[in-house]
Amino acid sequence: MATDRLAGDEGLFFANLTFADVQRMLDDPRPVVLLLPVGSTEPHGPHSPLATDPIISTAMCLRVARALREDPEVQVSILPDVSYGVTRFTAAWPGHIHIEEETLLAFLGDICVSLAEQGLPHVVFVNNHFEPAHVRTLHRAMDAVEERTGNVVGYLDLTRKRRAAELTDEVREGGSHAGQYETSIVLAARPGLVDEEAMRSLPPAPKNLAAEIAAGCKDFVAMGLPDAYNGTPAEATAAEGEQSLAALERMLTAQVRDLAAGRGGRDKPGLYFRV
Ligand SMILES: [Zn+2]
Repeated sequence: MATDRLAGDEGLFFANLTFADVQRMLDDPRPVVLLLPVGSTEPHGPHSPLATDPIISTAMCLRVARALREDPEVQVSILPDVSYGVTRFTAAWPGHIHIEEETLLAFLGDICVSLAEQGLPHVVFVNNHFEPAHVRTLHRAMDAVEERTGNVVGYLDLTRKRRAAELTDEVREGGSHAGQYETSIVLAARPGLVDEEAMRSLPPAPKNLAAEIAAGCKDFVAMGLPDAYNGTPAEATAAEGEQSLAALERMLTAQVRDLAAGRGGRDKPGLYFRV
């Protein structure tokens, strides 16, 4: 593994390895934990890219994989991301790509089963798309994998109260879609992809997404969010994004260690901050 070819971040991505590299991981006594970035390709305001959610997921994975690169207890690698999700809330704007629940369920299940069959049982879904039907499908997929393989799939459920408590006010106050929280992380992880001129001109759109979901709203238009964002994206900064990523890294690292050690690593559903 310690060749120049894999020395930088490139070496942290599973699909950049050769089969010989993977064999070396399997021969190493330390358990392998594979991080699967999950998100949705969908509108995120007039300022943030369609890939906002998978960008956040991949940025979290990269930080954890870097931090654990020479870890004595665990080997970590990042799988090719699943950048399509159950996405109905943003159907009013161009650029959304929706896949049905059963499609996502089968796809995620097959990935985990295929890996388990070759001695790679530890996968973590690292998700940042919080549409209820999508999150429910992820939990169904984790249940199905456990049933088919006996393996726990790791998961950090950021819709849980105690998880949101580690993040920003905007998240705690009901969630962020292309708001200050999400936009800040994109500014930190992929500077250049945010249209900062558009971002600075956006008026605040305070809206508790969890409450709107609880009230039965089925999309962002019904929630009174005509530009596919909530919160205060104009206030976003890369510095805030770095802080959020540091908190996400701490939480995900703990899940990775717990999963590798066989003592958990999967959060129960947070039900939009009700638990
Ligand atoms: Zn998002």
